[in-house]
Amino acid sequence: MTFKEFGLNESLLEGIDASGYENATPVQEQVIPLILAGKDIIASAQTGTGKTAAFLLPIINKLLASRIDDQVNALVIVPTRELAVQIAQNLEGLAYFTEISSIAVYGGGDGSNFTNEKQALSRGADIVICTPGRMIAHLNMGYVRLQGLQYLVLDEADRMLDMGFYDDIMKIISFLPPKRQNLLFSATMPVKIRDLAKKILHEPEEINIAISKPPAKIVQRAFIVYDAQKIPLVKDLLKSTNFKSILIFCSKKHNVKQLTMDLKRARFNVKEIHSDLEQAEREEVLLEFRSRRLQILVATDILSRGIDIDNIDLVVNYDVPNDGEDYVHRIGRTARAETDGVAYTFVSEKEQNKFNTIEQLLGSPVPKAEVPEQFGPTPEYNPRKSRRTGGGGGGGHRQGGGGKSNGKRFQPQHQRRNNNGQNSAGRQGGGGGRSSGQAG
Ligand code: AMP
Repeated sequence: MTFKEFGLNESLLEGIDASGYENATPVQEQVIPLILAGKDIIASAQTGTGKTAAFLLPIINKLLASRIDDQVNALVIVPTRELAVQIAQNLEGLAYFTEISSIAVYGGGDGSNFTNEKQALSRGADIVICTPGRMIAHLNMGYVRLQGLQYLVLDEADRMLDMGFYDDIMKIISFLPPKRQNLLFSATMPVKIRDLAKKILHEPEEINIAISKPPAKIVQRAFIVYDAQKIPLVKDLLKSTNFKSILIFCSKKHNVKQLTMDLKRARFNVKEIHSDLEQAEREEVLLEFRSRRLQILVATDILSRGIDIDNIDLVVNYDVPNDGEDYVHRIGRTARAETDGVAYTFVSEKEQNKFNTIEQLLGSPVPKAEVPEQFGPTPEYNPRKSRRTGGGGGGGHRQGGGGKSNGKRFQPQHQRRNNNGQNSAGRQGGGGGRSSGQAG
């Protein structure tokens, strides 16, 4: 379906064209007409589905006819600064040929940012994209012009609740006029999201685009290791493979810092990103990574959702993520758009149960990769045993058979360099791109 068929304004169609969009994505096909018709919406859609434009386009289109001067006309609440910046950039592109104004309002940055935000909020900006804490700081000062607000969007709502923003969201809403159109987007639909929806939405249409499964084209492999083998194994994988753009996730800031330091010492082109960095530093690192000047980025889950970076070839879960959704989000950073991707997860003894729970959520075991000989014995993959013993392990294990849930192990040969230093088998990913348990 083309965007013209939605009957959008010509100036908006120009922006869509300039953004390089030709046809609407499935979420856009479903959501745009409903928003244009004035419905409240609850949609489960993950990043990468085109959900941002699905709500921005109809809002911009409607505001072209109904915007009220000197007011905030639409408010988009998001969990992180990065997502706020990304949506603002997307909006800038789409609205480029229109007169719609916008601003991203988020924490961090220096005092001049706050002053700019204050000016925009007190004069009115058509679309405001904000993180909850920062918006409340402005609201408490009393100058934000919200009386004319027509649209409220909650994006990545599940993430916001996970981050403890429920009270903040409700407080922001208490400042809004009751008559407005409400749109809620969430990657998952746990009960707490449904409860939130009941409080905020008015007779919403429900849309389900995403099932929380990783795209089949991602080659997933797990390395069953002892904790102490993780750093040497990362280094070996990075040295012996030919990935150009690599994102490594750690669960804790401490691990991010430690691993980055180790990789720097080994002369890898690597930087870290986590919430201890200033906003400007975070943006600079992201820019370097996006433009591929930086090859390896080590991150906390701050980057697992909502961040749109194309062409990441490899995602490494240095720590097993806390739940299946985080796993899907993390590995979903690779294999965006038309490209394939590879996702490796390092599973220590303590993490076997957690990983097994994720495999159950995915509906099939992740094939186990063989840890190269030089690393010595590796633990057996035996989640039930590690549950009983708290990961006591014991005894070494090599090669096949031990992995109860999937049998064979897999050597990531498809990414090992050949003698010319080139990628030996391109990006097909030996073992096929399926996430099933058919180990290669
Ligand atoms: P999102 O799910 O909103 O994060 O979008 C993922 C990526 O898809 C972003 O880079 C968007 O700019 C891009 N995108 C959104 N809609 C379309 C479309 N209809 N055609 C091509 N790319 C799109």
